[in-house]
Amino acid sequence: MQTSLVTVSYLAAGVLFILSLGGLSNQSSARRGNAFGIIGMLLAVVATALTAFSQVTTQLQSVGMLAGAVAVGATIGAVVAARVAMTSMPELVAILHSFVGAAAVLVGIASYLSPDAQLTGVEVTIHEIEIFLGVLIGAVTFTGSIVAFGKLRGTIRSKPLLLPGRHLLNLGMLIGSAYLLSRFLAVPSPAATTELLILTGVACVLGIHLVMAIGGADMPVVVSMLNSYSGWAAAAAGFMLSNDLLIITGALVGSSGAILSYIMCKAMNRSIWNVIFGGFGADEGAAPAKPKEGGGEQREVVSVTGEATAELMREAKSVIIIPGYGMAVAQAQYPLYEIAKLLRERGATVRFAIHPVAGRLPGHMNVLLAEAKVPYDIVLEMDEINADFPTTDLALVIGANDIVNPSALDDTSSPIYGMPVLEVWKAKTSVVMKRSMASGYAGIENPLFFRDNTRMLFGDAKKQVDAILTALRDNK
Ligand code: NDP
Repeated sequence: MQTSLVTVSYLAAGVLFILSLGGLSNQSSARRGNAFGIIGMLLAVVATALTAFSQVTTQLQSVGMLAGAVAVGATIGAVVAARVAMTSMPELVAILHSFVGAAAVLVGIASYLSPDAQLTGVEVTIHEIEIFLGVLIGAVTFTGSIVAFGKLRGTIRSKPLLLPGRHLLNLGMLIGSAYLLSRFLAVPSPAATTELLILTGVACVLGIHLVMAIGGADMPVVVSMLNSYSGWAAAAAGFMLSNDLLIITGALVGSSGAILSYIMCKAMNRSIWNVIFGGFGADEGAAPAKPKEGGGEQREVVSVTGEATAELMREAKSVIIIPGYGMAVAQAQYPLYEIAKLLRERGATVRFAIHPVAGRLPGHMNVLLAEAKVPYDIVLEMDEINADFPTTDLALVIGANDIVNPSALDDTSSPIYGMPVLEVWKAKTSVVMKRSMASGYAGIENPLFFRDNTRMLFGDAKKQVDAILTALRDNK
């Protein structure tokens, strides 16, 4: 393929990726954004494959290998993406990041072992620094993402592993890497292969240690941060291969992942520096919140039935629905929107309130509500709607827990203290729909359940929403 044609294709793909990110920033344009991304990626893969084919036309075996690799990768990707449940999406994202990390490490080692003969003087040093950084970031991303995958899947316990002097350990590994870099640059390729392999090992351990030290409720930021690392690893691979598109794409992923991490850190009241250096959100002193000492007082909850909830809804002029992870598990979004439609037909104001970390991945709830065709204009972000709870008749919490926990605001000993939450208890009445008194993802008790104006509607969210819908329809 002609170089100019490749450049134009790469440029077009780069522009399509930027349009894709722009489209994904808003629900109404997200579908179009996704389409831009797909076309851009298709163009990028075809241009790269054709370039590779034109370079290896004399070796048919290589063409076959390349075509085979593309076919196998595309098939596995298509099957996995088609099968994955929305609730397992974060795990899939985490494991895909590990592939990017592994690719960057392999590209780095390969490009060190077969150096570009055209590079001379300072160019060689720059290229070797690119290799070194690519391998370092790639290996951290690789093992860090595997640990994140295991934690999200539950195969690795979500409790943080807090080794004594863990920050010193991380610092030691970074200083060791800097020393390896000086040795690496001192001798020509391939004399420092051992140093490069030792660096790979050290960075793999660093990736494991950083993510093992992070616990429970902080995993979303970690996944988003690893997304950013995978982007930088891809950009580093782009420099090693002199591939402009890989550099552009890597930089886009790296910076958008970093911005998302920052937004999520703010939503969870975590410091971004703690995320980068790991072991945050699980201070040794912060024990899980226990029920407050109350002179032995027995705290009780008031439970309601689906019919009684339907009655509360009929009386309410304004309703805010707060979906959480349980709604995703129960797949209750479809009948839930039927309820919203019925209430709106009766003249009530019905809106959905979305917490930035509701569910198990950013935008989880938005996707589910869009799937059920809930109009975007009644789906509001936390900051847009939090002030409206005091003037709301009914807050319906469906399968959410941590994101409506008042101890985040008033209990300094709570591990989630400082995290902004949806202040549902300020509504006239709130109904919390869940199966039991079990805690949420952060593993802490929720005092909301014991408030005087809270009613608990126990049971599977889908079954209870169906029951409410039936009661509302029967008594129109
Ligand atoms: P939580 O995990 O805090 O609470 C979900 C609640 O849903 C549980 O308490 C559970 O209670 C209930 N539930 C589960 N299944 C059902 C069902 N079938 N029917 C009814 N209820 C059900 O989720 P939230 O959305 O409130 O909060 C998100 C949490 O997840 C935060 O801690 C956040 O940090 C974390 N997180 C967020 C990520 C993100 O990117 N958004 C990623 C990873 C973690 P019960 O068992 O009693 O039914």
